[in-house]
Amino acid sequence: MSSDRLIYLPLGGAGEIGMNCYVYGYGPEGKERLIVVDLGVTFPDMDTTPGVDLIFPDISWLEARKDRIEGIFITHAHEDHVGAVGHYWEKLGAPIHARAFTANIARRKMSEHGYSESTVRTVGAWPEDSITAGPFTLGFVPISHSIPESSGLVIDTPKGRLVHTGDFKIDETPGVGEPFDRALWAQVAEPGVKALICDSTNVFSHHAGRSEASVGPEIEKLMTEQPGMVVATTFASNISRVRTIAQAGVAAGRSVCLLGRAMRRMIEAAVETGILDDFPSVVSPEEAKDIPRENLLLLVTGSQGERRAASAQLANGKYMGLRMKEGDTFLFSSKTIPGNERGVIRIMNQFSEMGVDVIDDSADRYHVSGHANRPDLKAMHEICHPELVIPMHGEHRHLREQVKLAGEGGYPGVLAVNGTMVDLAVGKPVEFFETGRVYLDGRAQVGQFDGIVRDRIRMALNGHVTVTLVIDEQSEPLGDPWCDLMGLPEMGRNGADLAETLESALGSWLQRADAKVLRDDAVLEKDLRTVTRRTTENEIGKKPEVTVVVSRLS
Ligand SMILES: [Zn+2]
Ligand SMILES: [Zn+2]
Repeated sequence: MSSDRLIYLPLGGAGEIGMNCYVYGYGPEGKERLIVVDLGVTFPDMDTTPGVDLIFPDISWLEARKDRIEGIFITHAHEDHVGAVGHYWEKLGAPIHARAFTANIARRKMSEHGYSESTVRTVGAWPEDSITAGPFTLGFVPISHSIPESSGLVIDTPKGRLVHTGDFKIDETPGVGEPFDRALWAQVAEPGVKALICDSTNVFSHHAGRSEASVGPEIEKLMTEQPGMVVATTFASNISRVRTIAQAGVAAGRSVCLLGRAMRRMIEAAVETGILDDFPSVVSPEEAKDIPRENLLLLVTGSQGERRAASAQLANGKYMGLRMKEGDTFLFSSKTIPGNERGVIRIMNQFSEMGVDVIDDSADRYHVSGHANRPDLKAMHEICHPELVIPMHGEHRHLREQVKLAGEGGYPGVLAVNGTMVDLAVGKPVEFFETGRVYLDGRAQVGQFDGIVRDRIRMALNGHVTVTLVIDEQSEPLGDPWCDLMGLPEMGRNGADLAETLESALGSWLQRADAKVLRDDAVLEKDLRTVTRRTTENEIGKKPEVTVVVSRLS
């Protein structure tokens, strides 16, 4: 028994905010039985991942040990925790466990990928309910966050109790969803905690976190004061906030209209699972057209400036027959996630051009974070009183800072980024595995290091030239090569046509090429590429990507 290991291995989410995926294992070295906590996605951006649709953690480590996986446990329904279940389930093949609301969202994703909804099992809250998976017994402990039924996991192992917080904040008045229950968490800590694996997102926010309940009165005041139509956006999954905004609208004498598929879908899931039973009645976009602007509130998707969301469509003109105009107000009851600033600023300016007042969270009144700030992280350390703190859900700087914070309280911390396997019984990293990302590109999954996106970026940055050359039966060029340009200017230096300049440079190089070169495709391609790049650089100061096509007549 003493040779059994209790391991922790993050594959995503430790060293970045997004695509969470954590593995725990217990058993003899190399034969540990495994559980997976969360299977999330992260979102691409134009700078580093142009054209990519979604980003997943690289789970090849897990795939190679598929027969050892006892179960998948999803802490809550945010995309960075549940987004990859449909795309990845086949590679893992283990049952998925979650509480009702999260399970509802996970089932929708599974059925979109053609899997049976029975692969997702609904579990009640700890301590009433728990699941045994191999050597582990797990319970979903309700915890407050910005989506209903978020849970921490209590993971009982033969070497002691682990606590995986999931995303959380300490909020005793969260609106929709369960308040943070100190007595329950004291019960979690009671037998002693071997390791606390803890959210790190807001470790740099030094003030105590504000409650969701503080937001409603501010929003209601704003809605009452605005003369025209109010359009508000937040994350659709923040059911509590969506309800707060809708109720504030009603209190301010406004009819509420929901716009955007995700908004309607989330409210539906919340009603179906019994989380939401007091959402104000809503009007359809058709009905909204006949309501005076000062009596109307639109609740829309697109708080991150997403191009296809309702907010962006309103910024472009109209959506479902509704338009914004001078005197209206647009409220962001949300925080812009780093990386999304440009999209958000673009729509802010579009609204500004229409004479619409845009109010964002810069005054810190209309939004509160769903993550624990530094004093609340400290409180969590004290509640759990663990032998070890392992920060997760954060960039490197966040993880490192939480190790320091834990140290200040006398708790040893281990900084474990993606790929670092920690033996929790000894509290030290023991192995390191290369991890990475997988891109969903259209319908294909491609590896981060496969070079596909790198090539795409190079073409975008440098332009592209296709050089086509025909060689006859005697290994002699049949006329000059010809060039097709993409993403390059038509004219070079002195106003000469760039394609023609390239063709004549390649033609004169070919006349000088010896017979040996003309017989060897590899050498020919390499040399034609070099001449093309050198000539283009000379003409326009850029070295393009080049494809050489040699056709031999035989
Ligand atoms: Zn998260
Ligand atoms: Zn979350």
